[in-house]
Amino acid sequence: MLFKINCPSCGTETSFSFRELDYKGPFRCWKCRATFTIRIENKKLTSCEPLSAEDFAKVNKLNY
Ligand SMILES: [Zn+2]
Repeated sequence: MLFKINCPSCGTETSFSFRELDYKGPFRCWKCRATFTIRIENKKLTSCEPLSAEDFAKVNKLNY
């Protein structure tokens, strides 16, 4: 599934893909490199919280 998300920090649109219908996990803007924990439910962004780069690295290791 392809989802388009606007970076909450700089507004850049990013295409984001994930396998399940819903997604909760890390997201990083390719442009400003801001990191967030996002939640997508029913193709809608329902939650977006800032995530430190340190924590992003940790979560990424678990997910991939
Ligand atoms: Zn950004």
